[in-house]
Amino acid sequence: MPAYAYEVAFPQKKDLSLVSNGIFFVGKVDKHESLWINGQKIQTQKNGSFAESFKLNPGDNTFYLTNKKKNVIDKYIITSLSPSKSSSNLVEFPIQECTTNTDNVILRSTPENFGMNRLGYLPQNTDLQINGIKNDFVRVYLNKNLSGWVPSDSVNPELRDVNPVGEYKGEGINSDNISETYKFKFSKNLPYSIKFDNNRLYSEVYNVAGYTDETFHSVIELKPPYCYSAKMKDGELSIKLPKVDMTSPKIIIDAGHGGKEPGAVGCMSDLEKDLNLKAAKALKKELKSKNYKVLMTRNSDKFVSLKDRVNYAKDKKGVIFISLHMNSIPEYANPNTHKGSETYYYNEFSKSLAKSVQLALTKSLGTRDNGIKQASFAVIRPTEYVGILVETAFLINPEDVEIYKSKDYYKKVAHGISKGIENYLKQL
Ligand SMILES: [Zn+2]
Repeated sequence: MPAYAYEVAFPQKKDLSLVSNGIFFVGKVDKHESLWINGQKIQTQKNGSFAESFKLNPGDNTFYLTNKKKNVIDKYIITSLSPSKSSSNLVEFPIQECTTNTDNVILRSTPENFGMNRLGYLPQNTDLQINGIKNDFVRVYLNKNLSGWVPSDSVNPELRDVNPVGEYKGEGINSDNISETYKFKFSKNLPYSIKFDNNRLYSEVYNVAGYTDETFHSVIELKPPYCYSAKMKDGELSIKLPKVDMTSPKIIIDAGHGGKEPGAVGCMSDLEKDLNLKAAKALKKELKSKNYKVLMTRNSDKFVSLKDRVNYAKDKKGVIFISLHMNSIPEYANPNTHKGSETYYYNEFSKSLAKSVQLALTKSLGTRDNGIKQASFAVIRPTEYVGILVETAFLINPEDVEIYKSKDYYKKVAHGISKGIENYLKQL
């Protein structure tokens, strides 16, 4: 305990700028002391911890922290930056040809950077017909009833004289020990979309001459674990399905955050990155004892980018990907009402794993079951593996603190998640 008789774990800096209309003060107060922030007495838990949210006005907001004797001990200046983007109106224009100027251009169903609206990923030099602009996205003509959207800076207008549509050139299947690849050949790169539904993969390729609505359709039946990878390259849409032995799938454990990135901060200055790593190690031990092949995206306190985590899992041919996190509270919310565990998935085929792990984990930990949710997190978005992200508990909720501070916590996390994985594999 420092001389001030209290510790502020968050904000970590006394001058901070953020895009938000609220901020938390989180920390602990000595039992002989009390803390006021801008004249408001801060309520503490039995163990001295506190978490209090304050509204922010646009621009600078000053917070004075005072002690029992009403002396000002600390001053925080938090700058609220007003959201920079405002949405604009749709401007339509006659169809114009353009070409993607970079790889991996995300074709979206709506003109916004919203996670769930991805249709497909376009390579560089894909010809597109565009006919509108909104919110820095251009509208792509796919067929009479369907438009897509790509960022306006990801395309160059083309003035060359090209055929706006492509042609279908044939298809085939390549098969070997580890995968089966369906190939659909076209005269050039074309916009496409892929959709998973009820264990089938529906792909559509647009702007194809001679097809109804200039749309080419295909349906592929998938087998467990229903993963796939799809790409368009040199006019070929290839869809690769891995052949996996589901009695012993390779499991990748991903301890969230690490190194320079602490993640959320608990009342007692617990860092999410440390708790995630301990949970990951416990889970690895448990799964190894059951003879699973297990790999970790990090096994020490180091920074690993989201991209590197994903690439690692793909390179190692991971089949199941478990990302471990602990939850923080939305800005300007009450820490006492936010508690429990929740599990996220992105791809529909990962939903049953999410369900199964969520059920077994909450049973093992005794946390409130907040259910499963679909969200677009980078580490669980790839279609190459069955991925989930688990928020085991809330870091600053008093009830959850009791749970994650208890000595069996890591064992219970490991037991719950591995049980969930086993139940998932049984029902496939
Ligand atoms: Zn996290």
